[in-house]
Amino acid sequence: MDISVVVPLYNEAESLPELAQWIERVMLANKFSYEVIFVNDGSTDDSWRVITELSRRNPALKGVCFRRNYGKSPALNTGFARAQGDVVITMDADLQDSPDEIPELYRMITEEGYDLVSGYKQKRYDPLSKTIPTKLFNATARRVTGIKNLHDFNCGLKAYRNKVVKHIEVYGDMHRYIPYLAKLAGFSRIGEKVVHHQARKYGTSKFGLDRFVNGYLDLATLWFTGKFGGKPMHFFGLFGSLMFILGFIAVVVVGCVKLYNMHHGNHYILVTDSPYFYLSLTLMLLGSQFFLAGFIGELIARNSPRRNDYEIDEEIGITQS
Ligand code: UDP
Ligand code: MG
Repeated sequence: MDISVVVPLYNEAESLPELAQWIERVMLANKFSYEVIFVNDGSTDDSWRVITELSRRNPALKGVCFRRNYGKSPALNTGFARAQGDVVITMDADLQDSPDEIPELYRMITEEGYDLVSGYKQKRYDPLSKTIPTKLFNATARRVTGIKNLHDFNCGLKAYRNKVVKHIEVYGDMHRYIPYLAKLAGFSRIGEKVVHHQARKYGTSKFGLDRFVNGYLDLATLWFTGKFGGKPMHFFGLFGSLMFILGFIAVVVVGCVKLYNMHHGNHYILVTDSPYFYLSLTLMLLGSQFFLAGFIGELIARNSPRRNDYEIDEEIGITQS
């Protein structure tokens, strides 16, 4: 099969028939063999009934129905697990992404050798309250993830080589960082394509402004786990030791100054009367806490069942024992 289209959706009943028709039209015109996997993320409207009817009419239109609402990432992850096409395309169900982009995305994966191609809504039809924070967010994401050529991490329209979606796990709200997840899994050929974007036709947006707060927190988590997940002591140990040593030196200095003044008959103050003493005490305490956090992190990492999971691309001449 050439293409699997994965569509996560939550209360998008009005858009579905139009979307399905549009995808079918594009697939037919380009003679692709395809499937569309609608993942109904616990919609409370008619979405599932619409999907059932669509599927009865055309068996290439398939559906998965969550019993309750989990979020876009779990919906994508579920679709990915079931996708069989050589190229997997994700798109939002609200008709903001255009199926007309599919042939070019497919070509970029199969002919230009990209592992992942992300859409870039250069001209957006969203309110300003969304587009400005989005710009900031993408600039941060570019810096932190080191994927310098992406302008729109969270674009719903993306294309993947099948292997990519089988090797990444999208959970929580991590759909915003799929390119980074792919990069962490060793898929480095990540490209971008400018895509058409349209205003939402039916229904309302499912994400509020809290998306930006959560987005930044998730980025911090991914950065940390990606860099230090397997060796937490390298992070905590470094900062812990630095703080402890700094505090220790400061305490010694405070003590020496007192002894020096005492010895020379100068005026001197007690060590506990110096504000520096308390600062260094705090530093040493915090430093040891960091160090301990590092140890606990190491204990957890050592027991992780995935501590020896590596992304192996190919093997040659190895007999499996
Ligand atoms: N969506 C979902 N589960 C949710 C929230 C959203 O499957 O809990 C789907 C939604 O139906 C749409 C896509 O994710 O197909 C993108 O959502 P939306 O259009 O509301 O986001 P925006 O365009 O405002 O970024
Ligand atoms: Mg939308």
